[in-house]
Amino acid sequence: MNLSQRALLMIAKLHDVLDELVTPLHQLHDHRLQCSKGCSSCCVDDLTVFEVEAQHIVEHAEELLATATPAPKGQCAFLDPEGACRVYHYRPYVCRTQGLPLRWVEEDPQTLEITEYRDICPLNIVEGEPVALLPAEQLWAIGPFESKLNELQQAFNPDEPQKRIALRSLFAS
Ligand code: SF4
Repeated sequence: MNLSQRALLMIAKLHDVLDELVTPLHQLHDHRLQCSKGCSSCCVDDLTVFEVEAQHIVEHAEELLATATPAPKGQCAFLDPEGACRVYHYRPYVCRTQGLPLRWVEEDPQTLEITEYRDICPLNIVEGEPVALLPAEQLWAIGPFESKLNELQQAFNPDEPQKRIALRSLFAS
């Protein structure tokens, strides 16, 4: 097995690890999460993923991609008419943390000052429990998993280590 094939296999493992990590957060925030089958507010159009994650979907949804019609523009191409994901088990990283309170940090290139940002879907805001006051460990930290995905992309395609693919472009039609 070459490095590229190994990177592709590792995507499934990475998703499994991710799901294990987000499960306790989903349980913790169960009372605020309005996310359920049919709620597709986060499933916006024009999502792009690393090529290696796109290939993971291609390998598991070959028939769907060859024969099905993408959802109309304005929403993710993988949504079905009922608002459910047609590649739920193979959906990319970004879809697996949707709905959770998120935190990330950015460094000012001039001052090197670090600023923390937080966000959550407006549907999941609970009065009296502002996301700004939650302990950091109760939010999903954006950054570490993106770095791991980037490493896998580099192994998958060293010539194009930043290559991203639009989900809609995976459909034949
Ligand atoms: S791949 Fe699935 S979960 Fe992700 S945005 Fe598209 S429809 Fe939603």
